[in-house]
Amino acid sequence: MKKNRIKSATFGEIQTQMLMEKIVTIASMALITTTLASCGAEPQGETPWIVDRFDDIKVMRYEVPGFAELPLREKELVYYLSEAAKCGRDIIYDQNFRLNLPIRRTLEVVYADYAGDRTCNDWKELEKYLKKVWFANGIHHHYSNDKFVPGFSETYLREVIATIPAEHFGELNDLRDEVCRAIFDPELYRSQLDQRAGVDMVASSCSNYYEGVTQAEVEKFYGERVDHNDPEPISYGLNSKLVKEADGTIREHVWKVGGMYSPAIERIVYWLEKAEAVADGPQKETIAALVNYYKTGDLREFDRYNILWVKDTVSNVDFVNGFIEDYGDPLGRKASWESLVNFRDEEACRRTEIISENAQWFEDHSPVAPEYRKEQVKGVSAKVITAAMLGGDCYPSTPIGINLPNSAWIRKEYGSKSVTIDNITYAYKQAAKGDGALEEFMLRSEDRERVKQYGKLGDDLHTDLHECLGHGSGQLAPGVKGSELKSYGSTLEEARADLFALYYLGDPKLVELGLVPSLDVAKAQYANYIMNGLMTQLSRIEPGKNVEESHMRNRKLIAEWCYEQGKADNVIEWVEQDGKTYVVVNDFDQLRTLFGKMLYEVQRIKSEGDYEAGAAMVEQYGVLVDQKLHDEVLRRYAALHIEPYGGFVNPEYELVEQDGKVVDVKISYPANYVEQMMHYSRDYSYLPNIN
Ligand code: ZN
Repeated sequence: MKKNRIKSATFGEIQTQMLMEKIVTIASMALITTTLASCGAEPQGETPWIVDRFDDIKVMRYEVPGFAELPLREKELVYYLSEAAKCGRDIIYDQNFRLNLPIRRTLEVVYADYAGDRTCNDWKELEKYLKKVWFANGIHHHYSNDKFVPGFSETYLREVIATIPAEHFGELNDLRDEVCRAIFDPELYRSQLDQRAGVDMVASSCSNYYEGVTQAEVEKFYGERVDHNDPEPISYGLNSKLVKEADGTIREHVWKVGGMYSPAIERIVYWLEKAEAVADGPQKETIAALVNYYKTGDLREFDRYNILWVKDTVSNVDFVNGFIEDYGDPLGRKASWESLVNFRDEEACRRTEIISENAQWFEDHSPVAPEYRKEQVKGVSAKVITAAMLGGDCYPSTPIGINLPNSAWIRKEYGSKSVTIDNITYAYKQAAKGDGALEEFMLRSEDRERVKQYGKLGDDLHTDLHECLGHGSGQLAPGVKGSELKSYGSTLEEARADLFALYYLGDPKLVELGLVPSLDVAKAQYANYIMNGLMTQLSRIEPGKNVEESHMRNRKLIAEWCYEQGKADNVIEWVEQDGKTYVVVNDFDQLRTLFGKMLYEVQRIKSEGDYEAGAAMVEQYGVLVDQKLHDEVLRRYAALHIEPYGGFVNPEYELVEQDGKVVDVKISYPANYVEQMMHYSRDYSYLPNIN
């Protein structure tokens, strides 16, 4: 396509797909056993970092260093925003699947009130199932989106229920049969999110964003409403469910005060207004705009809020609260509810500031076609934050970096905020110390030593480069909208950002900028990335399945493509030793060259909207799993007893009052996953069973 006319481009930028980033528990997390020089090891006798483990999940706690030192006003702000973050928990359950709330509540009544045998295998399985439901905010796996298979029978559940007085279940009694069918019938509601090519993705996904409509009807509905000539287009459909009514008309049920999810949203607004009262500077107006959006459901107001939010780079305490991410909608339009409350980590911010200040240098030297580089990189604001509260779709499984807002035109005009969440990353590393995975899967001791020494720094920089620069780099050819790559778009977008990060990690410029002591940091990251992409991330896939999730597809795509392209020179090599398979990088310099070459091609695909090339690349390298290798990885992982997924319990905050005035906010760190879940379900549950 018209490559040489890009300089006068007036069309949308590249970022349509980048959206709020969820680098969901990067698989390599489980493989890093870094010694953290700056933070030191955990003193003996303290609460362990891992508070619960079940199935493929470990639940950790995280600390909030610096909270006690915040000024009182900011502590109060964290408190009110944290309350608001907890009030939307029911929303994400209902969004994920319309029967999730009655299922969760039925099981919670059982869990609280059953007086029978709690030691038998059936009970243990029921308890595990409930823990999984809490973790996934529903009955589908948070990562694979497949429905959980219960390890107990319907007969057992009904027997247990029969021992509990019926009035404990209230209205849930009427939903019993539906709840049981949803849990136990393997043919029903199989996938929360089904994006296979050729299927009606709306009909085959059981997330609760649509009702009674086909994919074609949804596409027609929004196709007629989106104004392609609007330079400031709203994110149409973002905050509503699309429903075909009994009379056949198709209508949006908007999530707002007075609309769908009103009882929860009213509580969110209540706490946001408390926060507004103690906020100062530009933040007061920002929170007021968000409240107004929740009250009206007006998406122009949401844009106004986002602009105020992105322009505010001075407030120490910051937050996300709203319908943000569209990963859960098969058509990528409707957003799940989530929240994250945080404040600045001053020391760590230095790193991303250096990267941001040099954004233009990185863009100008990017190994992509010159016409697809951005002439001016705008508004990259980057910081490292300390998470203080996780809510909705960010809890218990949480991102380690975020990049907002999502609206392409706002990003273009006002830039975006990109953050990495340091205390969460730190908790992962602490929990993974000494789990044996590095020794099991990384063959060469020099690689292991480098990972131990530089793994955390390499990971942090990778995230910074990916978030602050990678997604924001490049531009589209004139006439290309950014949505041409369809279901392959997010995988290729992640690949683009990862390749940008990987390429620059090996650049001497990073040494010059003082970001790394030597390029050994890149070697550590390269060895880890390739091993993860080709091998160890398979631990998170069920036997017999292929790779579906876009971040995982991206990692496989990059690693497999580089393996193939470097085969003649043996850049990456498979090694068999003592009956075990390993993958090693023989030539780090050539690997970096390959990252650059691949970035050139992926950027071309994106810039030109070359669907055929993008689809072919992802299908060839990013999807299919070698069953024999997969079995081996699962076997070796199982022997280590490491759970591939992680999530967190939140700290608790408590207002300290004297004579009716708030004088302090105390923080504590509960270490019981079940208690926190039961507590949230008891005290922060506002929605009816069926919405
Ligand atoms: Zn990304």
